[in-house]
Amino acid sequence: MELILDRVTKQYQNKIAVDRVSLRMYKGVYGLLGANGAGKSTLMRMICGILHPTGGSISFDGLDVSCEGYRSILGYLPQDFGYYPDFTGMDFLLYMASLKGLPRSCAKRKAARLLELVDLQDKARKKVKSYSGGMKQRLGIAQALLNDPKLLILDEPTAGLDPRERIRFRNLIADIGKDSIVLLSTHILSDIEHIADTVLMMKDGQFIYQGKWEDNREDLETFYMEQFKEA
Ligand code: ADP
Repeated sequence: MELILDRVTKQYQNKIAVDRVSLRMYKGVYGLLGANGAGKSTLMRMICGILHPTGGSISFDGLDVSCEGYRSILGYLPQDFGYYPDFTGMDFLLYMASLKGLPRSCAKRKAARLLELVDLQDKARKKVKSYSGGMKQRLGIAQALLNDPKLLILDEPTAGLDPRERIRFRNLIADIGKDSIVLLSTHILSDIEHIADTVLMMKDGQFIYQGKWEDNREDLETFYMEQFKEA
């Protein structure tokens, strides 16, 4: 499996948010790192087909991002996820499953299994408005997995998770990364260190580093800190 980004660009009126980004991605976990405004969300939203690039192309195994087939291989957790506060966790997953076109019988089984996977099985019948931030985030991760995506895009998935949840999440992602392409953004260096096979560091709409964390650990740490000083 292969995701190809070919000179992907997003230009707003007077701002180039993503600037001719090219990359070939294969099975594994990619960590997208960068200060606020670097272009991470814009890039992820283009890969999910929510935003249209103003230049370049995106395809997965020959499927263009704009085609129907692409949607069925995609799982996405946006940064600001819209939950329905009066739904229970189970209702919410069943609702998302119907939007994704899963048959009802299979959706129920799948939802129950995913709630277990993110350790929410005991809260399945509780309303989402009673969930903590970390629990909502775990529910968001569960909905992204409903269709067994080959391409999983997670925009700051560890935000709001406590240390225990974070470790559980890392294990889950490592597992998914064995069979899928996972791209996640984070501000947290230790997330990258523990989850990502490949680091993509973004600045001003471009990748300024792509490679293994271990290969360049000290430089990357220093560089990352400097970006935050500038910001
Ligand atoms: P990140 O996710 O890394 O914080 P974003 O992708 O949100 O970065 O933003 C990248 C740049 O694009 C920022 O300078 C931001 O201000 C700009 N930008 C994002 N969305 C818009 C928009 N709708 N109109 C104009 N500029 C935008």
